[in-house]
Amino acid sequence: MEYYYCPKCLDKLERLSGCGSVGYICNSCKNLISRKQMLTLQEMDEEKRRRREEFGPDTRW
Ligand SMILES: [Zn+2]
Repeated sequence: MEYYYCPKCLDKLERLSGCGSVGYICNSCKNLISRKQMLTLQEMDEEKRRRREEFGPDTRW
Protein backbone atom coordinates (compact mmCIF):
# COMPACT_ATOMS: atom_id res chain seq x y z
CA MET A 1 0.00 0.00 0.00
CA GLU A 2 1.26 3.39 -0.97
CA TYR A 3 1.06 6.48 1.22
CA TYR A 4 0.72 10.10 0.24
CA TYR A 5 1.63 13.27 2.05
CA CYS A 6 0.25 16.75 2.56
CA PRO A 7 2.00 19.41 0.46
CA LYS A 8 1.58 21.94 3.29
CA CYS A 9 2.55 20.18 6.51
CA LEU A 10 4.02 16.99 5.01
CA ASP A 11 1.85 14.80 7.23
CA LYS A 12 0.63 11.45 6.03
CA LEU A 13 -2.76 11.68 4.34
CA GLU A 14 -5.71 9.55 5.29
CA ARG A 15 -7.40 7.72 2.46
CA LEU A 16 -11.10 8.26 2.07
CA SER A 17 -13.06 6.02 -0.20
CA GLY A 18 -16.71 6.02 -1.02
CA CYS A 19 -19.12 6.32 -3.90
CA GLY A 20 -16.53 4.95 -6.31
CA SER A 21 -14.13 7.81 -5.81
CA VAL A 22 -11.05 7.99 -3.66
CA GLY A 23 -9.93 11.11 -1.86
CA TYR A 24 -7.25 12.00 0.59
CA ILE A 25 -7.53 14.20 3.64
CA CYS A 26 -4.92 15.79 5.88
CA ASN A 27 -5.91 15.45 9.52
CA SER A 28 -3.58 18.26 10.55
CA CYS A 29 -4.86 20.84 8.06
CA LYS A 30 -8.38 19.40 7.93
CA ASN A 31 -8.15 19.76 4.18
CA LEU A 32 -9.01 17.55 1.29
CA ILE A 33 -5.97 17.10 -0.91
CA SER A 34 -6.43 16.53 -4.59
CA ARG A 35 -4.39 14.01 -6.52
CA LYS A 36 -2.45 16.82 -8.16
CA GLN A 37 -1.43 18.30 -4.83
CA MET A 38 -0.55 15.25 -2.81
CA LEU A 39 3.07 14.16 -2.51
CA THR A 40 4.57 10.70 -2.76
CA LEU A 41 7.03 9.56 -0.10
CA GLN A 42 9.92 10.49 -2.35
CA GLU A 43 8.51 13.94 -3.11
CA MET A 44 7.84 14.51 0.58
CA ASP A 45 11.45 13.62 1.45
CA GLU A 46 12.73 15.99 -1.20
CA GLU A 47 10.46 18.76 0.02
CA LYS A 48 11.66 18.23 3.61
CA ARG A 49 15.26 18.45 2.48
CA ARG A 50 14.51 21.56 0.47
CA ARG A 51 12.84 23.27 3.41
CA ARG A 52 15.64 22.32 5.76
CA GLU A 53 18.16 23.89 3.41
CA GLU A 54 16.04 26.97 3.02
CA PHE A 55 14.91 27.55 6.59
CA GLY A 56 17.35 25.57 8.74
CA PRO A 57 17.04 22.32 10.73
CA ASP A 58 14.92 23.77 13.55
CA THR A 59 12.02 24.74 11.34
CA ARG A 60 8.67 23.24 12.12
CA TRP A 61 5.95 22.84 9.57
ZN1 LIG B 1 -1.52 19.11 6.12
